[in-house]
Amino acid sequence: MTNLDDLPIRDDLRGLKPYGAPQLDVPVQLNVNENTFGIPEAVALDIIQELASEVLRLNRYPDREFIELRGQFAAFLGNGLSARQTWAANGSNEILTQIFQAFGGPGNSALSFGPTYSMYPNIARITLTDYRELPREADFELSANYVAEQLAIHKPAIAILCNPNNPTGTPIDNEVVRAAYDAFDGILVIDEAYAEFSSKASAIELLAGRPRLIISRTMSKAFAFAGARVGYLAADEAVVDALRIVRLPYHLSALTQAAARAALRHAPEMLANVEQIKVQRDRMIAQIKLLGLSAYESEANFVLAAGFENPNEVFEALLARGVIVRNVGIPNTLRITAGTEAETSKLLGELALILG
Ligand SMILES: *Cc1c(COP(=O)(O)O)cnc(C)c1O
Repeated sequence: MTNLDDLPIRDDLRGLKPYGAPQLDVPVQLNVNENTFGIPEAVALDIIQELASEVLRLNRYPDREFIELRGQFAAFLGNGLSARQTWAANGSNEILTQIFQAFGGPGNSALSFGPTYSMYPNIARITLTDYRELPREADFELSANYVAEQLAIHKPAIAILCNPNNPTGTPIDNEVVRAAYDAFDGILVIDEAYAEFSSKASAIELLAGRPRLIISRTMSKAFAFAGARVGYLAADEAVVDALRIVRLPYHLSALTQAAARAALRHAPEMLANVEQIKVQRDRMIAQIKLLGLSAYESEANFVLAAGFENPNEVFEALLARGVIVRNVGIPNTLRITAGTEAETSKLLGELALILG
């Protein structure tokens, strides 16, 4: 085998490593913010039936506009949205990539406020879009004034606000979204990957009359559907038309569409554990503080715990005891997904032993 460095790879990719959290076979996996409850059996059976009915048609390309699925997303999101104001792709990472392909690219810039989702700079790089990350304010919060001021100064082609923010859990109010939108002329993306866990209003309420606003969502987190790879968005029809230019033909397979259609028919059951996950998140925040650590406010399904003298040591000790969490590189912190009650108990118990 030849060495990657010996290949005529793009100069800007030279020396880079593939992105991704470790995938380890550990009993308690609290490292990538999945819904650890899994899929209810009745729903699983319906998904299988829907998949089975597609298999005999797999000699044909899928519906490349997947209008039926888009109609279901529109109905699920409400707010008077139509099918043509929604779009879907293989995970919201692909949604974001298509947005960058259509509205970023050479000569254009993207801006976000960090620490935030580490895929943003990656997607920017892949799509040859300049990327700038400005610091968040105290406790990782964002105020309308600060965001508007920075967007007016930097005038990016694309601004992304992650709400609630990964990896900190920090929410923003729609007031921040309104101010951000009015402050510049570019595309404003609100990444609502964790919106189902948040008590704050979704920016979907603000879509009417704001054609440069895109709300990105995913079935990977609250919906317990990470393995199916389904992300979606709500935006003006013209935005969707732009994405239809850059998407690869038939990007959403017939099997993915079928699985998503069946899962969406059972949205209430798929989302049934969200309340329990929020209970475990809040329990984790309270208990972590009792251990002499601190935890940031979170409206997501994870908590950024702080106050570790050596987070890597704690990460390794937890791993040795069968619990995997995430060290996202923010000094003295670990990010921990809220799982089932039993998983959360295991995490808190082991953490107490390690720190005790
Ligand atoms: C997990 C996550 C995503 C979603 O990724 P998928 O590609 O939909 O699995 C998007 N944005 C943020 C901030 C996330 O944490």
